[in-house]
Amino acid sequence: MERSEIGLIGLGTMGAALSLNIAEKGFRISVFNRTVSKVDTFLSDSGPLAKRISPTRSLEEFVTSLKVPRAIVLMVPAGDPVDAQIAALRPLLDPDDLIIDAGNANFHDTNRRAAQAVDDGVPYLGIGVSGGEDGARHGPSIMGGGDRAHWDRVAHILEAISARYEGQPCATWMGEGGAGHFVKTVHNGIEYADMQLIAETYGVMRDGMGMPAAACADVFASWNQGPLQSYLVEIAAEVSAATDPATGAPMLDVILDRAGQKGTGRWTVIESQQVGAPVPVIEAAVAARNLSAALETRRAGEALFGAASRRLPDAALSLDDLEAAMIAGKVMCYAQGFDLLARTGTQYGWTLPMPEIAEVWREGCIIRSAMLNDMAGALRTDPDRNLLFAPYFADLVSRHHTALRKVAATAATHGLPVPALSAALGYFDSIRTARSTANMIQAQRDFFGAHGFERIDAEGQHHGPWGGGG
Ligand code: NDP
Repeated sequence: MERSEIGLIGLGTMGAALSLNIAEKGFRISVFNRTVSKVDTFLSDSGPLAKRISPTRSLEEFVTSLKVPRAIVLMVPAGDPVDAQIAALRPLLDPDDLIIDAGNANFHDTNRRAAQAVDDGVPYLGIGVSGGEDGARHGPSIMGGGDRAHWDRVAHILEAISARYEGQPCATWMGEGGAGHFVKTVHNGIEYADMQLIAETYGVMRDGMGMPAAACADVFASWNQGPLQSYLVEIAAEVSAATDPATGAPMLDVILDRAGQKGTGRWTVIESQQVGAPVPVIEAAVAARNLSAALETRRAGEALFGAASRRLPDAALSLDDLEAAMIAGKVMCYAQGFDLLARTGTQYGWTLPMPEIAEVWREGCIIRSAMLNDMAGALRTDPDRNLLFAPYFADLVSRHHTALRKVAATAATHGLPVPALSAALGYFDSIRTARSTANMIQAQRDFFGAHGFERIDAEGQHHGPWGGGG
């Protein structure tokens, strides 16, 4: 039997799509799945690509079917399944073989596994793969992490299967250890925020302006022709336009308002707190996702306090106001995400390639958007500068923050929850306030804890005249 250039374990949604993509690009691939019957189903569904797929029914057969040194992709759920799969594979592998975890691993786990791999002598890469099932099938965005030489060994395959932006592959090595999974984590944090901003503007249209889903679809579709052009706005239009085959109602109207999550948004926020990088728009989005899950609490809250009117007076807001507010909110959210990437990179000894991160997100991934090309340009000019201060984005925000304020204020007045838009506004107003109110915080910290404070008119640490500290 001809040996395969690469193998993949885990023929679920992502693994099956990725395997077909690999086969389609001309590479022979061996596949294995815990539930072995799925291997046969997968093969019979593979059509003409089956000729480049080697089905295997045991780990031993799988390992033997691969060219040496072997390259093995794991596409199984993050966490214990990855450790269990590595433990099962390790005794069957040679020191030059390579395990590639392509799931949504917590980057701390990837750091640990990469260190363990050095001890065990079986190299390990952690790669973030974004784009959902369709991306995996036709071209995802790939964020690699681990030893550079190991990445280089498989880069030709990963680049061949990745999305392309103007011919450039969206597959990039981000750094050692968990760097790739960390970049994917922040990608997902930004994704949470992008989705929340869209959901909030949808809420203003639905509840504030009384617009039916089909009308919202038209608005999202028109926004997708302008500065907000992005995959998420595009699919917001599509899901808003869809009809429920069972009832004939707009699909959105019959979907429960309770959203799930797998943890990457939460990990982004946890890391932001660890390194002291403020990401309030992403925090608001993760909190909103948690509040969405608390459906019973929200129902009890509405019964106890009564629902706010939410309906806006005619002409209180225009659709142009909403679009402008989204633009400002989106810039704020990305500025925060890139700031977190820059700060955390330093913390873990990575020199994360900031412009390349924006570039690798331009195609294939869930947050792909027109704005990312401008962000890549701004980060190429100065990778350490907060995006908000790059001339292009400073100008964009200067022109749109008034609408963000108008939308946030109007929504607040009428009881429409817009936590991510409000957080974006709070971030903007904070970042342009040279004299903040932290002098009060410092005074109180000194009062109760004798922590001392700096003065505006003298060097060094000082204490107040309150005499309560100590
Ligand atoms: P699925 O649930 O569709 O598939 C999971 C696969 O892993 C199945 O093949 C399953 O085998 C196998 N598996 C589950 N548990 C174990 C185990 N303990 N040991 C060995 N194999 C196991 O998941 P997805 O394909 O959606 O996700 C896979 C990974 O990709 C996850 O880390 C996910 O977070 C990540 N990801 C998912 C995206 C998506 O849009 N779905 C996007 C980007 C990343 P069996 O058939 O036996 O159950």
